[in-house]
Amino acid sequence: MLQFEGIGPRFRQTRTGKLLYDLDALYDELDDGIAVFQRENNLTCPQGCGICCSQFEPDVTEPEADFLAAYVMLYKPDLIKTIIENRSTKAGCFLFRETDPQHCPVYSGRPLICRMFAFTAVNDKQGKPRFSLCRHLPTAGSRHVNSEDMSKAFSIQPPVMQHYSSRVTGLANGLQESTPLRMALVRSLDKLRALAVYLTEDVLDGSTVQTDLLPEDSGIIPTRRHPNNRNRYF
Ligand code: SF4
Repeated sequence: MLQFEGIGPRFRQTRTGKLLYDLDALYDELDDGIAVFQRENNLTCPQGCGICCSQFEPDVTEPEADFLAAYVMLYKPDLIKTIIENRSTKAGCFLFRETDPQHCPVYSGRPLICRMFAFTAVNDKQGKPRFSLCRHLPTAGSRHVNSEDMSKAFSIQPPVMQHYSSRVTGLANGLQESTPLRMALVRSLDKLRALAVYLTEDVLDGSTVQTDLLPEDSGIIPTRRHPNNRNRYF
């Protein structure tokens, strides 16, 4: 569970604010399910491997992009300028850091597919889950487990990809449109900035305010702040 407590009560009451909390709970449930599946079946990524991120950049829905944008604003504000000014044309995820042992600088805020990759099942045409092991994971047997063999192969079953992607789509009011991460993230940063400005202006009457959702060095600071506290925006 991420700490979105610092972003202020007014933001939490907005559609975007509620969505962040809902998605946080959904991500927690998924992460827990994957952790149990990995532990019980002794599956883990090879140490230092980041091949999936170096060859792939996710498409994300609006809720995923908003979640990641809020995470960046709150926890990784030093990345904001890099994200906005990004001109990278390299293949793979533009956030991937090959030389960084952690590889993903936004790990706790990463999108859905990044959480699900390698450790979830996929429903087949009959709607039954099947599983394929990442080709970079060692195995003595087959890499593919069909739906009939799932219970024999795994003591604990993996979460099913479609189950979570449809729930995220539900949070997006059923809109399935997804956008490459580098574009979606800039758009969400811009949206949250506009929301921050709006909410700041909304509380300039002296109501209770909190948070520093947009740090001073972020490069996308709202132009108006609460008059009683220069470090507060909401
Ligand atoms: S957001 Fe992070 S985990 Fe997802 S593809 Fe990019 S570097 Fe990898």
